[in-house]
Formats: sequence, C-alpha cells, structure tokens
Amino acid sequence: MRRPLIAGNWKMHKTVREASEYIRELNELPWDDSVEVAVIPPFTCLFAFWEARSRSRIRYGAQNMFWAREGAFTGEISPLMLLDLGCDYVLLGHSERRQIMGESDRMINDKLRLALETGLLPILCVGETLEERESGKAKEVVGEQVRWGLQGVSPHPGLVIAYEPVWAIGTGVNATASDAQDMIRFVRDIIQKEWGAQAAQELRILYGGSVKPENIGEFMVQDDIDGALVGGASLDPKVFADIINFRST
Ligand code: PEP
Repeated sequence: MRRPLIAGNWKMHKTVREASEYIRELNELPWDDSVEVAVIPPFTCLFAFWEARSRSRIRYGAQNMFWAREGAFTGEISPLMLLDLGCDYVLLGHSERRQIMGESDRMINDKLRLALETGLLPILCVGETLEERESGKAKEVVGEQVRWGLQGVSPHPGLVIAYEPVWAIGTGVNATASDAQDMIRFVRDIIQKEWGAQAAQELRILYGGSVKPENIGEFMVQDDIDGALVGGASLDPKVFADIINFRST
C-alpha cells in the first residue's frame, strides 16, 4: 500500500513571517494522518519550517538545488545546506525551471543523483506541453523525461515522480482523472521495465496541475495516482487542508 502524499509547491510566494503563520494554522487544522503532507516553500522560508519542526506534522523540502556539494557557484544552494535545514524533499525538473530557467534533462539527472547520494528525496516533475499533447507526442516526451531523469539511478523507495502536464499548471484547466491515470500508469510501466515490479509497485507517482478541493477526489480514486503536487491551492492553509482531507471533501 502506497501512502498518499499531498505536497504544496508555494513557488515564489510568502515571507518567513507568513510561513510561520501558515505552519501554525495548518497544524491546528485536523487532517487524516494516513496522508503524508509536505510543503515546498521558497528557500528563505525553510528556516520557519526548521524552527517549527518539533511542533509540526508537515514535512518539507526545497524547490531546487545545485548539482555540487559546495564550491564557487554564486547564487546556488547545495543539498547539504537543505539537509542542514531539515529538508526531506527536493523538487527537481519543475516545468517552470525547465522552461524559464532552461534546465535540461541532463542537469536534472545530475541534481537527482546527488540528491539521493546526500540523502534528500527527489520529487521528479515531468509533463508535456499543450503542443506536444496536441501533436500526439505526450507519452514520448514524458517517457524521455523519466528515463533521462533516472539515468544511472538504482531503485529507491523514497523517490517520488510528479506528472504535471505543463498546460494544466496554474491555468485552472486540470487534466481529466482518466488521462492522468493513463499517463501515470505509463510512467509506472517504465519504472517496472527499468527497476522491476516491486520498485514499480512501491514508487509514489503524483498528479499536478490545477488541483483543488473540488477535483482532488476524482484523482485519488484512480489506481495509480498516489497524491498531488499542488501549486496555487496550497497557499491558503484552509484550502490546502481541504485537499489533504480528500476522503471527506
Ligand atoms: C505546480 O506548480 O506544481 C502546480 C501544479 O501548480 P497549480 O496547482 O497552481 O496548477
């Protein structure tokens, strides 16, 4: 049985003070402990999560990292610094980084290997653009991103993949639950070929793209969807809690 994971990606939102307030509010709301909850705030807010760690049920991680442990890389963040702040997760290959910052599959693979080597759990984001979907290339693109992202990586039970169609991110237009299930099953089949049946059964694969309280239930009843990566709707703790409590929403 894979434990559902609901992860909130704050992108470039919130100050440290706002993060502290959010952590307090979310922890005061009831949620079902069979669901794992994580928040992926901007780097600066990680301190608030670290500071609250003894009284918080929220796991957390960073939105990016560099592919070296230390060195002359101005403006970059090492996985060791993230571990020092108590991070469990690191988001890698988010479409905003691939598209706006020009991150390649090769860079993402370098980061992913170092994340695992140092003890961080990567959440590898993959997903096709609208143009790629409309030209029938969605599976080819997602398949390549998965294979490239995991090149040279041995099976790891803690790694997470998030399928996030680019056209569904921040647009209010979500994929249908059956299209998301179809793509996520396709990703699990790739993992099975690369890593074997047991690793494929253990690996959590999330859906991301305009998830909200009104649609989370449709995704969570699908056989292969193990949770959600939530952007905009994770910024308000009450709305995020409604997503976490998808069984009763
Ligand atoms: C995201 O940023 O990963 C995301 C899925 O955003 P949104 O939920 O706002 O579409």
